Amino acid sequence: MLVAGGGPAGLAAAAELALRGVSCVVIEPRMQVSHRRPRAKTTSIRTMEHLRRWGVAGAVRAAAPLPVAWSQRVTFCESLAGRRITDFDHAFGLTTERDERFAEPGQQVPQPVVEEVLRDHLRSQPAVDLRLGHVVLALAQVDEGVVVTVRDAGGTAYQIGARYLLGCDGASGIVREQIDARYVGYSDPRPNFNVVFRAPSLETPLGPAVQYWVLGGPAPGLIGRLDLTGTWWAIFPGVDPEFGAAHTSELITALAGAPVDHEVLACDPWTARMLIADSFADRRVFLVGESAHVNPPWGGHGFNTCVGDAVNVAWKIAAVEQGWGAPGLLASYEPERRGVIEQTVASAASNLASLADDLPRDEQAIQRAKRAEFYSLGLVLGYSYGGSPVIQPGSGTAPATDMTTYTPSAEPGARLPHSWLPDGSSLFDRLGDGFTLVGPIGAGGPGVARVLERARRREIPLTLAEPPASYPWRQEYLLVRPDQHIAWRASDPADIDLDLATGGGG
Ligand SMILES: Cc1cc2nc3c(=O)[nH]c(=O)nc-3n(C[C@H](O)[C@H](O)[C@H](O)COP(=O)(O)OP(=O)(O)OC[C@H]3O[C@@H](n4cnc5c(N)ncnc54)[C@H](O)[C@@H]3O)c2cc1C
Repeated sequence: MLVAGGGPAGLAAAAELALRGVSCVVIEPRMQVSHRRPRAKTTSIRTMEHLRRWGVAGAVRAAAPLPVAWSQRVTFCESLAGRRITDFDHAFGLTTERDERFAEPGQQVPQPVVEEVLRDHLRSQPAVDLRLGHVVLALAQVDEGVVVTVRDAGGTAYQIGARYLLGCDGASGIVREQIDARYVGYSDPRPNFNVVFRAPSLETPLGPAVQYWVLGGPAPGLIGRLDLTGTWWAIFPGVDPEFGAAHTSELITALAGAPVDHEVLACDPWTARMLIADSFADRRVFLVGESAHVNPPWGGHGFNTCVGDAVNVAWKIAAVEQGWGAPGLLASYEPERRGVIEQTVASAASNLASLADDLPRDEQAIQRAKRAEFYSLGLVLGYSYGGSPVIQPGSGTAPATDMTTYTPSAEPGARLPHSWLPDGSSLFDRLGDGFTLVGPIGAGGPGVARVLERARRREIPLTLAEPPASYPWRQEYLLVRPDQHIAWRASDPADIDLDLATGGGG
């Protein structure tokens, strides 16, 4: 397996492959991550659940400069020194309470910190060969795989033969072009200007918040702490690079509400883009993450969607490599992810309609316009792979229409509804690395024995798990995939079609 690109998508794909003992080489040009270009800060509940499966959720929280307990709030104000307009509490899935609906709360943490934790994790995995300073130059598909040309850190080109290639090389990578796929979509005409700066004396009487939206005034924008020792980030919508570079101090003063001593660490201009590739795969090459789609950061889904892609494709490749998954599994990657990505891009595009320079200083208007941006559990947890060729046919095909509210569902295609067990552990911790049959196993009788026997004959790893007595679907049998989505729902487990769920149906 070869993974081109070691950003969030590539590192997540390698972590998922490593969990399943599948060897992979990760090619990544950057020797070091850049803390001065933090990009994503919102790690969603769903991504945290994946990090938990890989055993690194605790490490990410320990490394995160802003603990969840420090703040779960987004504040709208006239400036850091000015009037509070309104707040959104428990934004982005941030909570210190245990919630029945999920195994992990969200976490605000700069993307480079997550990347560093994942790099460290991968270095401890014998199956992973992380090659920093190397770059993919070209690829050629041959009968049994892909031949990839790589340049090493010293400038020498070499070739690697791989059975599969994951193109995790981002929007400016080369894999998309090499398989003749093209982005389809549009860009927002307005520029954006990001600044990262040190200002240890900058404080606010508004209290802790993970984002402060400053409305009105000379330069509306967003600002937040990167750490608790005086490093800040800011985004100025509508500010072009020349103006931003020439007026950085005035821009910071506008958000702070008064001049403040500061040192600019980095400035980054960027444009919001709503792009989805016309194809996500060609034979043994798959586009994963931003190489397949780009969406604006509003709502904080970009990096999380990339991790979702990586998990989806990596467990399927592992299953095929291990001999218990059929090629139909690989063919289901694009149909399963395209719908989720379209929903996510549409949601981010709608958040784009009300940026800091568009919003009035009016509490009710802000609450109406921004609610879906900060409370998007319907999108984060409620998406479904119903309708996929490897999901039980005939149910769960309707995509979630309410992006805000998550209603747990045991329909095939949905993420398994979470539950806490009496001993305090999560139902998700009882799921195996392969498929899991969740249901009244003890009372299961011959149906459970039959499905176990079929799995044994096909060498499909199948774990059994009993949900707690309070679980609403306690009396049903749910076949759960390695990515925690339900492949099949039955009152008699003997009715479960393991062939279809592992890609061999039809
Ligand atoms: C200002 C901003 C704020 C954001 N905020 C959020 C947020 O709050 N939440 C969120 O979820 N997302 C956010 N995002 C989006 C997030 O940063 C991206 O979605 C994410 O980085 C994409 O991950 P990726 O691994 O697909 O691509 P990338 O992060 O672009 O990684 C691609 C990797 O491939 C490597 N590469 C490139 N070319 C080659 C090659 N030829 N060979 C090998 N490797 C190559 C690159 O070095 C890079 O490491 C934000 C983005 C921006 C710009």
